[in-house]
Amino acid sequence: MLVLNQGYEPLGLTSIRRGLALVISGRAETVATSHLTLHTPSAPYPVPSIVRLKRFVRRPHGRLALSRRNVLRRDRYTCQYCGKSNVELTLDHVIPKSRGGRTSWDNLVAACLRCNAKKGNRTPEEAGMRLLKPPRVPRYHEAIILEVPELPEPWRAYLVG
Ligand SMILES: [Zn+2]
Repeated sequence: MLVLNQGYEPLGLTSIRRGLALVISGRAETVATSHLTLHTPSAPYPVPSIVRLKRFVRRPHGRLALSRRNVLRRDRYTCQYCGKSNVELTLDHVIPKSRGGRTSWDNLVAACLRCNAKKGNRTPEEAGMRLLKPPRVPRYHEAIILEVPELPEPWRAYLVG
């Protein structure tokens, strides 16, 4: 379930149980419902897909964890050198570790085995290879998108664009 701040900015994800608790206690309102229905003794209750807090809260400073899976997701499972996506991928240090390159969001990219081998222990410039786009830390709303395997349609308005 997607939680929006009072001003409709995305805040993060929560479980159905916690999201429902927010709505039932009056601390949040339903913005969009999901296809799920909760069967309560009194009446069926549509499970929200998006809720909005009624009071403004400060955004938590949590950052998306740097992991192999999250880097591959950020790069949409696409080799950042040749653009292929239906191939086995590894993580490439843009500036090689042996040359002082850091293990960080802005120095790691998805690379296919072929490009990784071709690049070897060189920088992209030295290897004559170009990155599709410079790697960077995912922004707040992008980090939320990366947490779900598939973006529910109603979320797009708040997370994409
Ligand atoms: Zn490649």
